[in-house]
Amino acid sequence: MTRQAIEITGLRKTYAPQRGEPAKHALKGVDLSIPAGSIFGLLGPNGAGKSTLINILAGLVNKTSGQVRIWGFDQDVNPRQSRAAIGVMPQELNIDPFFTPRGALEVQAGLYGVPKSERRTDEVLELIGLADKAEAYARTLSGGMRRRLLLGKALVHNPAVLVLDEPTAGVDIELRQMLWDNVRKLNQQGMTIILTTHYLEEAEEMCDEIAIINHGEVVVRDKTASLLGQLDAKTLVLTLESDTALTLPEGVTQDRKSDGRLMLSYRRSQISAGQILAAVAQSGGVVVDVTSEEPDLQDVFLSLTRSAA
Ligand code: ADP
Repeated sequence: MTRQAIEITGLRKTYAPQRGEPAKHALKGVDLSIPAGSIFGLLGPNGAGKSTLINILAGLVNKTSGQVRIWGFDQDVNPRQSRAAIGVMPQELNIDPFFTPRGALEVQAGLYGVPKSERRTDEVLELIGLADKAEAYARTLSGGMRRRLLLGKALVHNPAVLVLDEPTAGVDIELRQMLWDNVRKLNQQGMTIILTTHYLEEAEEMCDEIAIINHGEVVVRDKTASLLGQLDAKTLVLTLESDTALTLPEGVTQDRKSDGRLMLSYRRSQISAGQILAAVAQSGGVVVDVTSEEPDLQDVFLSLTRSAA
């Protein structure tokens, strides 16, 4: 059986009412397992509950009810072990300007109770590409360097699970590349990675499995490959010279738009565009224009988050 890095059952979070605002049900009974060794993507629109979920995992927000196990440790029963099993790279660049990168990593290791003899400060500095900036003041670091330092801080206690909250939002291509190289390297060494992202192509490229969360609920969870496999659907958009009754192969559905365009939907795995166009010609249809529409993860995402709205 696959070992689960994270097991969440019936997780609820309700934020108390504030200044006339009603109580917010940020998580409404989330069940989610994340296999050890995976790169797992947590996707969802703003306000879906992603940060709440991550902050509960990180021990920064108290859940209302439900169970969270990290690396097999129940948060309520073994709070210390479950906290030690996870590292979180936060979104905001909250770096103490008075520490050097080395100092910041040492303080963080101290907070996690890592004994001096077991600290990996130099190794982490090397990994995040800040070895030559080890003694620089944090306020002199660029935005990209600060982000890398935040990644380093999440790694000081060598956690089994690393969580990255929107790691590449507003980040330039070079830094993005470096972050992903680091993440892949850590994953190859056995670390389980969970990341939230707004960039669907990024999730497609990086993640083995994906959960889409909306309005505090998990609306889909699947292997990235099978989610993309559902995207077998394709549409040919034709403009015909004149309105022609077409005899089309089985599995092709026709939809005539009010502007006269003809939408022919089919499954790529069953039939090719060439076969469809041949059938159109055989039925006497004269094609003036043809384009095709292909769904991507964005479409799955939109249709799922819209239907759950
Ligand atoms: P996401 O990270 O997906 O954007 P969040 O977890 O930040 O979503 O927010 C989920 C919901 O909970 C939103 O409606 C948000 O307004 C609300 N929320 C988040 N944090 C708090 C808080 N500290 N107090 C009250 N409501 C909050």
